[in-house]
Amino acid sequence: MNYVSTRDSKNVVSSSFAIAHGISKEGGLFVPESLPKLNENDFNNLKNLSYVDRAKFIFKLFLTDFTDEEIDKCVKGAYIGSFDDDKPAPMSKLGDNVNILELWHGPTCAFKDLALQILPFLLTTSAGKVSGGNKSVILVATSGDTGKAALEGFCDVPNTEIIVFYPENGVSEMQKLQMASQKGENVHVCAIKGNFDDAQTAVKKIFTDNDFKKKLSENKMEFSSANSINWGRLCPQIVYYVSAYVDMLSTGADLSNGINICVPTGNFGNILAAYYAKLMGVPIKKLICASNKNRVLTDFINTGVYNRNREFYLTSSPSMDILISSNLERLLYDLSGCDDGYVASLLSDLSKKGEYEINGEMKEKISNLFYGGSCDDNETAATINETFEKYGYLIDTHTAVAVNVYNKYKDETGDNLPVIIASTASPYKFANSVLAALGEDVSDDKFKTLDKLSDITKTDIPKPINDLKTATVRFTDVYSKEDMYNAVNKSLGIN
Ligand SMILES: *Cc1c(COP(=O)(O)O)cnc(C)c1O
Repeated sequence: MNYVSTRDSKNVVSSSFAIAHGISKEGGLFVPESLPKLNENDFNNLKNLSYVDRAKFIFKLFLTDFTDEEIDKCVKGAYIGSFDDDKPAPMSKLGDNVNILELWHGPTCAFKDLALQILPFLLTTSAGKVSGGNKSVILVATSGDTGKAALEGFCDVPNTEIIVFYPENGVSEMQKLQMASQKGENVHVCAIKGNFDDAQTAVKKIFTDNDFKKKLSENKMEFSSANSINWGRLCPQIVYYVSAYVDMLSTGADLSNGINICVPTGNFGNILAAYYAKLMGVPIKKLICASNKNRVLTDFINTGVYNRNREFYLTSSPSMDILISSNLERLLYDLSGCDDGYVASLLSDLSKKGEYEINGEMKEKISNLFYGGSCDDNETAATINETFEKYGYLIDTHTAVAVNVYNKYKDETGDNLPVIIASTASPYKFANSVLAALGEDVSDDKFKTLDKLSDITKTDIPKPINDLKTATVRFTDVYSKEDMYNAVNKSLGIN
């Protein structure tokens, strides 16, 4: 299986190259040349396999330049011992037809663990094949969840160093503590004076600085990226949608008319994985794309116009506060019939004018495949409250956006097919908003808030979050934007 760039389909690379480099040289994203197909027989065989073996089966279809031993090592390393009960993606039910796919049982309690636990293995294996054994240096700019999940994933992985930059005042207290207390010999965490965009811009500048790259290579190092456009993050996300469908089949449910999938969306990575699962043969009828008040994707699905020139809102579901959904480029490529020139022109419009409009044929395809909906913070809180009252089931703010939009979809269309709703974070990661949604007073002391949420709802605080109560802060350095080069030098011990 080869991969091509969305902006130049003559740029053909191996899976190792796609993962080690992350992005193509013309700025495009790597996509598989074709998607492997699963048939009824495959699904039946998968029924009897563990999550690890299902993952191995899917990875083998996509990573054809990895040996079976390499895939075995990557998958076991990622999914054995890191998730509650070694079940990375269990499901709960809200009534007969609604299945909640809980993707937050990993070390940082958000769905990003499913990809970032395995990415370090995939990346070091890939780098070994295409980068001649140089040490991989991962630079991350984060507004919270990605940084911690990447730190946990890369912690003490041989031949890697990871440096995470976060805005000093732009992450939640719990997220800051999660990162500042990170263990490991190869991890470096730096607060910066500025906002997330400042961190992101500076990281991109360092990443593409040829003099700096030369210096790294003299020290037998090279930069790599762990962000969500890396194919090594998408592939593991396809696995849990296939696995969830197979789990539903195993219960004997009647799925002969197909299923729907609803995903709370930011960068369009998670829902894109569901789209790929559909193309591979999982009988998904509708992909329901749920946004918070930053409803750039809702408007795109409904009008065919992507317009980022709009107000940016800070919401109670911060991991979806985003106006440029990078992974959408892969959908555009597919729906345009792999028209690389057209995709490049749309993305060029986006960077020049902040906006693009797709042609009529693509609009029609998108409205057949997707439903787009959004909800604001009040509706999010009401949904948390309602879901707990009705089912005794506690959800976080991001999952609540999905549940709310799914309900709107069902009311509008009457479509009652079995649905999988992706639950992307533990409610304890956003304990303040969740507790307030239940109508309770929120304490200034973040640990009291956790305890109160646990008392009231009779649910357990996940261990990784409870452990923060006694965590030791290791990283306290704060850098100015101009000083981020020095932060990298200092972290890597070079000058
Ligand atoms: C990152 C994130 C999302 C959005 O996922 P995308 O793949 O960017 O669409 C949703 N919920 C949570 C909790 C997240 O951390």
